[in-house]
Amino acid sequence: MTTVTFRIEGVVQGVGFRPFVYRLARRYGIAGWVRNDSEGVTVEARAPAPAVDAMERALVDEAPPASRIVSLRRESVASGGSSGDFAIIPTVAADSISAFISPDLAMCDDCRRELIDPTDRRFRYPFINCTNCGPRYSIIEALPYDRRNTTMRAFAMCEVCLAEYRDPLNRRFHAQPNACADCGPSVSLWDVDGSVQAAQGAAIRAAAALVREGAVLAVKGLGGFHLVVDARSDGAVSRLRRRKHREEKPLAVMYPSPARLRDDCHVTDAEASVLDSPAAPIALVERRADARTLSAAVAPGAPTLGVMLPYTPLHTLLMEHLGFPVVATSGNLSEEPICIDERDAVERLGGIADAFLVHDRAIARQVDDSVVRVFRGEATVLRAGRGYAPFSMDLGRSVPRVLAVGPHMKNTIAVSVGDKAFVSQHIGTLDTPQALEAYRRAHKDFAELYEHEAEAVARDLHPDYASSAYAAAIDAPAVAVQHHYAHVLACIAERGLSSPVLGVAWDGSGYGDDGAIWGGEFLVASREGYDRVAHLRTFRLPGGDLGAREPRRSAVGLLYEAYGENAVTMTDLPSIQAFDAQERRVVARAIDRDINAPLVSSAGRLFDGVASLVGLKQRASFEGQAAMMLEHAISDDAGHSQYPTAYDASTGIIDWAPMLREMVRDIRDSPDVGGIAARFHNALAASIVAVAKAVGIEDVALTGGCFQNAYLAERVIDGLEGAGLRPHWHRRVPPNDGGVALGQLIAGIVRTEGG
Ligand code: ZN
Ligand code: ZN
Ligand code: FE
Repeated sequence: MTTVTFRIEGVVQGVGFRPFVYRLARRYGIAGWVRNDSEGVTVEARAPAPAVDAMERALVDEAPPASRIVSLRRESVASGGSSGDFAIIPTVAADSISAFISPDLAMCDDCRRELIDPTDRRFRYPFINCTNCGPRYSIIEALPYDRRNTTMRAFAMCEVCLAEYRDPLNRRFHAQPNACADCGPSVSLWDVDGSVQAAQGAAIRAAAALVREGAVLAVKGLGGFHLVVDARSDGAVSRLRRRKHREEKPLAVMYPSPARLRDDCHVTDAEASVLDSPAAPIALVERRADARTLSAAVAPGAPTLGVMLPYTPLHTLLMEHLGFPVVATSGNLSEEPICIDERDAVERLGGIADAFLVHDRAIARQVDDSVVRVFRGEATVLRAGRGYAPFSMDLGRSVPRVLAVGPHMKNTIAVSVGDKAFVSQHIGTLDTPQALEAYRRAHKDFAELYEHEAEAVARDLHPDYASSAYAAAIDAPAVAVQHHYAHVLACIAERGLSSPVLGVAWDGSGYGDDGAIWGGEFLVASREGYDRVAHLRTFRLPGGDLGAREPRRSAVGLLYEAYGENAVTMTDLPSIQAFDAQERRVVARAIDRDINAPLVSSAGRLFDGVASLVGLKQRASFEGQAAMMLEHAISDDAGHSQYPTAYDASTGIIDWAPMLREMVRDIRDSPDVGGIAARFHNALAASIVAVAKAVGIEDVALTGGCFQNAYLAERVIDGLEGAGLRPHWHRRVPPNDGGVALGQLIAGIVRTEGG
């Protein structure tokens, strides 16, 4: 007889792990117990050695689909008895709370079957869930994960539900949000004043009828509100855009089924499986050229579409009534955080929505829909929210408690606790008072959840970011981390790279060590520090921050750098035409005299400038729009042709001026935008490979918002592999600024340890 304990860490609570262990114990005739604790799950197993070994293998090989084991440790203990039963014993709370929190999980197939089975007691119940699916992070108020620590504590289980909850062999054993129509949450339909119009099934039917008639419906989902309209109707979509002040940014679309989705989009197997996974994110997929169902106003001019499938029973029922695709965009005013509370929604969304489909299960925190792009057969998360957040990783050793406050745009925060790192859900860009308030709340919430008191605070090097000011107000030493170094560290940490690597951090902007705006950076980096070995040639960006919204300003800055003051007289170019005579004088003066015209080495601004030069976009309505349009403009038949760039290894400067001159000739001769866009992308990819070859470090980490550009990423990766180097890129942590907090955290830990 052998007695051992298994200590299992990872996402193992709230995902059906204990019943799974219980079943294994029965299968192998093992005595002992299993319990949740603050670190994860602990099992004590007493049986002959072969049975214990078999259990150990099965724990890993057959773990429940929604679980993620990060470590499993086996220890022998003095024999605790000869035989007996196997039991699930009560949770113990320890001093340190570091359990991994499960993200929210889309409805599983078993629950889906019950939902549509007229003989099932939960037939058409919009809050059906089990240990394999349902709300998690969005209802958890404290650890450990137990019903009393969730927003479900407001509902007392009926006898039938309680019996399921207590039965180790039931799929709902310790399913914390377990509920039924008799005892659980319910839906209702409210008018704009918040008075109830209908309840239960009738509410969903009435809500569907409103959408069919062209109304804007606010729907309370898992991590917040959606605004829903008929995606086929020009009138409904334009109404939503007008009311929400969202002019051109593509809107996400929810399809009633994978089959309906395929009518409008090309969906690869990898994309289909991500859409259907427990995370059920929004995936960016290719639209079919022949699809005519959707209103042109959904995603004007974009060859891709952000799509998702119904992921809760409520969405499933609503979509079943509708049978057609709907726009399902975040329930907020532009740039503000999404609504999570129905009373607040009536107040804030009253001017947008015509009706509210709400329920009485409280949402503990804002969790937006996640956005992914499938790249080389795997999802890369571009926005981490529902289904992916919080992101947790094992650091392999105990570290100081550090808080990373994130950057300015696409903000997330991160903390280290014990030997773990946790990264929050997408919080947003810290531009408005409402966004800052949501940011403060998110920090307080995250700190309370993990009982985190910071020994050090890691922040961006930029002195004027709201997050930097926030860090300064916390009573702990601050560590300022250069933005692009943080990007590279995030990739190093996520991909488990051992140092040093060549980090290629290309994005819109980040504060550089020299006070200039960086964004086309090559850093030889390790956890201990970095060396800026190369970067794009700098140019002056007239208008500074305004430049991020006006691609024409990048264009004039590039032209000025290459042609001098003649730039503003090149009135045959669309970029210069976009300024009137007066503006041209102002811009020229700003650059000449260095008045609010900072030096930038930003790849993002280079993309903007080129999009402006070819006449695609002079004023962007959202960040990254011009670059996205340039990527979408690439014509397939341009092949591998490229513009010249010059890399000087002694200065580390990549000069784009030769490219710009040829491009200007092309624009004047025959403005073939598709060909120019292709030659531009190919030139940048080639320049990255050239630098990497010259630097000679095998591991190359690709990071920063520019690597959301699949065409660029694909060519760079091919080129690096062709040169015998090893490219690395993000999967679970966004390449954009959503990943910066993790990098800050790593730097903060290392510097705090170093004293
Ligand atoms: Zn389920
Ligand atoms: Zn019940
Ligand atoms: Fe960035």
